[in-house]
Amino acid sequence: MKNVGFIGWRGIVGSVLLERMIKKKDFDYINTIFFTTSQFGQLIPFNIQNKCKILQNAYDIEILSSLDIIITCQGSQYTNKIYSKLRLIGWNGFWIDASSYLRTSINSVIILDPINLNLIKKKIDIGIKTFVGGNCTVSLMLMALGGLFQDNLIEWLSVSTYQAASGAGSNFMRELLLQMKFISEIPNFTKNYTNILDIDKKISKNIKKNNFPQKYFSVPLAGSLIPWIDKKVNDGQTKEEWKGQFETNKILNTKNIIPIDGICVRIGTLRSHSQSFTIKLKQQLSLDNIQNIIKSHNKWVKVIPNDMNNTINNLTPVAVSGKLDIPIGRIKKLNIDKNCFSAFSVGDQLLWGAAEPLRRMLKLLLDY
Ligand code: NAP
Repeated sequence: MKNVGFIGWRGIVGSVLLERMIKKKDFDYINTIFFTTSQFGQLIPFNIQNKCKILQNAYDIEILSSLDIIITCQGSQYTNKIYSKLRLIGWNGFWIDASSYLRTSINSVIILDPINLNLIKKKIDIGIKTFVGGNCTVSLMLMALGGLFQDNLIEWLSVSTYQAASGAGSNFMRELLLQMKFISEIPNFTKNYTNILDIDKKISKNIKKNNFPQKYFSVPLAGSLIPWIDKKVNDGQTKEEWKGQFETNKILNTKNIIPIDGICVRIGTLRSHSQSFTIKLKQQLSLDNIQNIIKSHNKWVKVIPNDMNNTINNLTPVAVSGKLDIPIGRIKKLNIDKNCFSAFSVGDQLLWGAAEPLRRMLKLLLDY
């Protein structure tokens, strides 16, 4: 059995990965050693059959270098600190990572096997050992529109995202809940006789209070939104927006870059990201044709009929959280151009957008 180190299991991506691996019985086929950056020496707080019951130090290069495979959901700072140290001392194991730090490296593959399994296999065959999960919205977009990309039908794509608080990590998700609690602490707000404008004024006042919980987001998210995710890069883009074109084209291994851009927005949902697309095709296709191409690509994408009932029941974060399904709806031609159409998609960013490609990569390596 391969020795596999698991780092970042306490975070939100790591917790979902752990949950999925337990469900799929993946731990039966590996010797797992659990690491921590903050609690080494403590007992592992869950019951999985493994060699070591004690949490190991995630900065201990000697133990890490004895592993065949390292799977990390700890984040870019950790990868930045540890990855090159390990490679410099000659560690030649497989590194599977949820963070973005190594995505731009020429020696890494961004993994999303329903889209780029052949590329992943080719890279394993030539000795590549570093496999990185993609940006959550990019992976979800590719799962939704994979058929159109596969048939090389997309001329360009513009996207507006609606990203959940958990996309920023556990502490941000907790903070959104604290913010929700804070703004809803208004006496009598459920009573019909209370004037709605009085309620509105009290909420606005609460949000502006000095003790409003905003240590992580810096500003209110509950009752608001934040049209900026990650740091600024070139030409007015944020890093999150920049990843759309770079990562999509790297995953698809395109010869000619497919232009992708848009605006990424954090909204006050807890889990699952949504995206609204404007897509220009290289040729005119009927809506039936477009829908057939989309739904025949993979077993998780589900085309939702463009009517109110189906949309409000099936095309929301609430409908999709905790599921691998990728619903896509609001598919309609646009007045703008005969080759343009719109679509709206939702997906659990903690599954296909984070944990699931890592889990499947581990499985692929074990079976290879
Ligand atoms: P996270 O929840 O903040 O967890 C990362 C680490 O933070 C944990 O392993 C834990 O390490 C530590 N931590 C500190 N306070 C914590 C708390 N209150 N609860 C749980 N853990 C806490 O981050 P994440 O969202 O899982 O992201 C991990 C990596 O995946 C990042 O690079 C991120 O960019 C990437 N990613 C995230 C998503 C997403 O939707 N969240 C999607 C795709 C990729 P110790 O146990 O060692 O202290």
